Amino acid sequence: MSIDMKFDGRAFINGERVHARDGQTFDSVSPVDGRVLASIARCGQADIDSAVSFARAAFDDARWSGLAPAQRKKVMIKFADLLLALGDELAMTETLDMGKPVKYARGVDVNSAANCIRWYGEAVDKVYDEIAPTSRNALALITREPVGVVGVIVPWNYPMIMAAWKIAPALAAGNSVVLKPSEKSPLTALRMADLALQAGIPAGVFNVVTGYGPEAGSPLALHMDVDCIAFTGSTRVGKQIHVMAGQSNLKRAWTELGGKSPNIVFADCPDLDRAVQAAVGSIFFNQGESCNAPSRLFVEEKIKDKFLEKALVLMPGYAPGNPLDKATVMGALVDKTQMDTVLRYIESGKSEGARLLSGGERTMVETGGCYVQPTIFDGVRNDMTIAREEIFGPVLSVLSFTDAADVVRQANQTIYGLQAGLWTSDLNKAHGIARALRAGTVHVNQYDEDDITVPFGGFKQSGVGRDKSLHAFDKYTETKTTWIRIDSPIRQASVER
Ligand code: NAD
Repeated sequence: MSIDMKFDGRAFINGERVHARDGQTFDSVSPVDGRVLASIARCGQADIDSAVSFARAAFDDARWSGLAPAQRKKVMIKFADLLLALGDELAMTETLDMGKPVKYARGVDVNSAANCIRWYGEAVDKVYDEIAPTSRNALALITREPVGVVGVIVPWNYPMIMAAWKIAPALAAGNSVVLKPSEKSPLTALRMADLALQAGIPAGVFNVVTGYGPEAGSPLALHMDVDCIAFTGSTRVGKQIHVMAGQSNLKRAWTELGGKSPNIVFADCPDLDRAVQAAVGSIFFNQGESCNAPSRLFVEEKIKDKFLEKALVLMPGYAPGNPLDKATVMGALVDKTQMDTVLRYIESGKSEGARLLSGGERTMVETGGCYVQPTIFDGVRNDMTIAREEIFGPVLSVLSFTDAADVVRQANQTIYGLQAGLWTSDLNKAHGIARALRAGTVHVNQYDEDDITVPFGGFKQSGVGRDKSLHAFDKYTETKTTWIRIDSPIRQASVER
């Protein structure tokens, strides 16, 4: 695959690649080396109106929603197969667009997105509706129906996966979709739309509008003809999404937002090496740009020095490298803005008195790309900025504790509630603390298990609703009750004895 690839940055509306109505564009700049990759359509209100009206027309004439689930399944599976067939191209595109190592773009992002689309396709002809246990002179059917037009807004950290988590259940359930990818990583979403059409998803059913949040995202969230908005991104914008839903047509609003996940290691941890590997590997994976990264590490005081000694031994293995090189595990941050934000947080850690143990600097400056060394701070207190705010970069804050009740209190002392981890050999402690942690997912003696079969989402300001698993269908379907009167001439079963 050549890195001199050419990209089509036009939007995808009603089955066609189109320029923004007013012809405006913006540059997509690669964080790998600063090169301009493509000129992207800068969509605005008129483009959103157009995409929504085509999505509505497609929904109303039932060209997709009216198909039997088994037919939609076939198309979804073909869509997943096409993603895999073009896996190398998509992975290279993702790497150039947002800086993650190509090895993970191919092995994680492409595979997970395809698996997600296949899974919801496979699921849709296996979920049944219900009949309520009412009296015999009535039949009450409880059916699931697609909500209609679904607006989807996603971030840049796992562009294909974040999109797939929403478009797959929404499309499988029969909805029409208008997807707005992040302005920082729009290219793979556009290719996904090309492939969806090729797989047989009819024109108008799946549209992609590119552009900036306030110009393209807000008109979608505010649109009076969008029935549901599914958002993944920051808590700051997520709150605005709920306001926009409320001030327009009370569209259903689902939000997957930020995190500042605690990872608690007790001295009776069953496998210290594994705990160290997981703590370091999970925060530095994807350059720390993961909502569920365990960015607050609480280590019991008596094992902290040993723990950190082992962690430092691993650090050279996370040195940033060229993301296009298949051996690289740590790539570039998504853009200069994000890199500057991360460097500012590192400065705040230093100035508030945390002890820099490793990293802390921009690196590979000569490439023109956006690279930051993986960074560890020791001696962090829970009230420091680097322990309270989501950095969304390769920065680990290490805190110590002596008392179990106190560490649970500190772990929960955050506006977020996405994930949490704990390491102990004591089953009672594990169960008790897992229940006490206010988080959507709790990991015990591991931090990296993940599967499309389990729900993903947060407590508190980490958002409303769950992606993944069969629960995701709840977001993209309305529950309808249909009462049917039964005037049966036969009151009782007549059985010949
Ligand atoms: P962001 O909130 O800045 O942007 C997310 C999306 O919203 C982008 O497409 C952006 O263009 C759009 N947007 C921005 N302003 C908008 C507005 N006024 N109206 C409508 N849309 C608008 O977030 P980001 O920087 O792209 O992503 C990082 C954030 O995403 C982090 O907080 C991270 O934790 C979160 N995230 C959460 C999950 C999860 O599942 N909980 C997963 C991945 C990322």
